Amino acid sequence: MTEILTPSHVSLKASLPKRAWQESLKNAIRSGRELCRRLDLAPELCAPEAEDDFPVFVSEEFLSRISPGNPSDPLLRQVLGTSQELSTEGLLDPVDDEAAVRGNGILQKYSGRVLLITTGACAIHCRYCFRRHYPYQSSQLGKTAIQTWLNYIAKDPTIEEVILSGGDPLSVVDETWQEFAAGLNQIPHVQRLRVHTRFPVVIPSRVDSKLLDWLTNLKAAVYLVLHINHAQEMDRSVREMFATLRRAGITLLNQAVLLRGVNDTLQMQADLCRMLINDQVIPYYLHQLDPVRGAMHFQVEDEKARSIIQELRTQLPGYAIPQLVQEVAKQPSKTPL
Ligand SMILES: *Cc1c(COP(=O)(O)O)cnc(C)c1O
Ligand code: SF4
Repeated sequence: MTEILTPSHVSLKASLPKRAWQESLKNAIRSGRELCRRLDLAPELCAPEAEDDFPVFVSEEFLSRISPGNPSDPLLRQVLGTSQELSTEGLLDPVDDEAAVRGNGILQKYSGRVLLITTGACAIHCRYCFRRHYPYQSSQLGKTAIQTWLNYIAKDPTIEEVILSGGDPLSVVDETWQEFAAGLNQIPHVQRLRVHTRFPVVIPSRVDSKLLDWLTNLKAAVYLVLHINHAQEMDRSVREMFATLRRAGITLLNQAVLLRGVNDTLQMQADLCRMLINDQVIPYYLHQLDPVRGAMHFQVEDEKARSIIQELRTQLPGYAIPQLVQEVAKQPSKTPL
């Protein structure tokens, strides 16, 4: 049956069909129990207590890349809340973001770059996230936020680069970004826009014509920093999405987090980096885990991290080797290990 009549009191906007990526968000899996059921795993594997302050959230697209029946799957480990998270080891704000807040989600720690916490919403909940305890309520995006950011950026000629972060900035609809992009185009000192996002990988349909519209209309050079931790996250739909972004002239970088039981072997890092460069995605950073409470079981020793990178150099070209870094509070850059 087709419904073609729209009641007059329903606004046109509300009656617009949801875009594919918004449907994917709506249909995402929201509990460890459901995740275990879908993957033929024992329900005892999940710990509902771990989900109290940070719920499970996984798209069907990401789920389809997880092997059923394997409790050690490297993708599963990134998203399933387990009893290991109940440890009280670790910090709530490990990178001291609070100290760098300039109001309205504006963070400025490093010279020439301003980072905007644009939203708390994400396409996926990563159990190791260093912002899992971040007070997002105090930085919600609205029209006023956009204007505040543009004013802040316009007033400081040393800001060459604007970084959209979050949460995931691509949780925000393109109409809002279109407006922001138009504002940025009026500020001559902004040379680069960087978008840090997991959306394209977790829900590849996020890369659609509306997104490409505002990205390609920017005067600034556009860098998209993806976040892929394991080669298994890249299926055919992800690789097609890379090609679409490349054709639009967008430079693709990747950052990963070194995670015990997920990607902490030479083989896994080599597979990840090789697959990335085969698709012209440059491995940018490999982050040592920020010591956030609830994620300490993912920590890898510095010695092991360094030796993986050293070995990697003997296998792959120089541009395939990510910089191994740690974020140290109050430092003027990420700290190489
Ligand atoms: C990580 C980070 C950046 C970006 O650092 P790069 O080394 O340029 O990638 C910028 N601002 C803040 C607040 C950050 O945490
Ligand atoms: S997508 Fe990024 S901000 Fe969101 S939960 Fe994962 S690591 Fe954290």
